[in-house]
Amino acid sequence: MRSISILGATGSVGASTLDLVRRDRGAWRVVALTANGNADALAALAREFSAEIAVVADEARLPALREALGGTQIEAAGGPAALIDAAARGADVTVAAIVGCAGLAPTMAAIEQGGSIALANKEALVSAGEVMTAAVVKHGATLLPVDSEHNAIFQCLAGNRIEDVRRITLTASGGPFRTWSRERIETATPGQAVAHPNWDMGAKISVDSATMMNKGLEFIEAHHLFPVGLEKIAIVVHPQSVIHSMVEYRDGSTLAQLGPSDMRVPIASCLAWPRRMETPMAPLDLVALGSLTFEAPDETRFPATRLAREAAQAGGAAPAVLNAANESAVAAFLAGKIAFTRIALTVERVLSRDLPPPPASLDEVLAVDREARARAEELLELA
Ligand code: NAD
Ligand code: MG
Repeated sequence: MRSISILGATGSVGASTLDLVRRDRGAWRVVALTANGNADALAALAREFSAEIAVVADEARLPALREALGGTQIEAAGGPAALIDAAARGADVTVAAIVGCAGLAPTMAAIEQGGSIALANKEALVSAGEVMTAAVVKHGATLLPVDSEHNAIFQCLAGNRIEDVRRITLTASGGPFRTWSRERIETATPGQAVAHPNWDMGAKISVDSATMMNKGLEFIEAHHLFPVGLEKIAIVVHPQSVIHSMVEYRDGSTLAQLGPSDMRVPIASCLAWPRRMETPMAPLDLVALGSLTFEAPDETRFPATRLAREAAQAGGAAPAVLNAANESAVAAFLAGKIAFTRIALTVERVLSRDLPPPPASLDEVLAVDREARARAEELLELA
């Protein structure tokens, strides 16, 4: 039996993870389950999986959580410090599935325990970069990528030497506006942006897929997970989302990982690694698929990948600033306060100001994040 904690248990990745745990209930002991504020949904999961502890990040929701867990032995806790404490209980596997930089401190607390971290929370790695990868080395933790592209690359690298990699190619679906004109994209609504053609995901990452900032964040994520050099990481649009990414070697061999657009596949790969486990996926039917197509990304209509590449090249605080400005702008867009195209515009404007010095600790990353959010919000209120 292995122990598991899920940070962000009530979200889309959290639900996919718990679906796998549910299918092999006897194999897992559930330590911590966390959520932002949905106490009832969290309590229901904690009861179902007999979790040791349930934590709401929003402390105001703790009384509701206590009430919903009444009559059980499950501990209830609330607030950011409790979230970090729960992550530091050290499960064999911690699934980092909180959305945004809000997941950084608890993910770092889990890394410090030295277990396996199944990382979905790409914003944390984008913001903390070297601070996080150094902590992984220092504490002997194992970082397993849940993000489907990075999980594909991780699988394609197995048994090979990173020195032999000629190129890593991240595939991108292109999002719901892939075929839209520039003028039409200007009119995109939150409802249209979250309706992803291939994947069923949380609201924030769905908007990121629509702007292509998701691929920009993934470019930076790949740079930290697979240190081949930025010039060796490419992006190709592949609307069917069947090939999840590829690794090309210096002898001319390209390895690809294929599968359904269902996060349970990469999550299962992390949960069972280095072995394999059953998932309820139908066999891949290439004949039914018929054809797989590829296009070059269009950075005129979707400037976010360029912004992310530039931030990665600049290094230091730039990726954390990019991420924070994007989080603020996406929240404003989802709240109906700004137009879709102002998301990338805001990121570009925040990045064009003087950048703070490179953050060297978790606290410094969080300070850069706070400051960049404040700048973005300042700009957005000028509208
Ligand atoms: P989601 O919005 O469905 O769920 C987010 C989870 O985080 C929820 O449990 C929520 O309660 C919690 N949360 C939100 N704000 C919080 C805060 N301030 N403090 C503490 N907890 C908070 O998101 P998701 O789609 O599951 O994505 C989670 C992460 O995984 C994101 O970083 C996303 O980029 C990444 N990811 C998701 C998918 C996918 O298919 N959904 C694929 C690849 C990567
Ligand atoms: Mg992805």
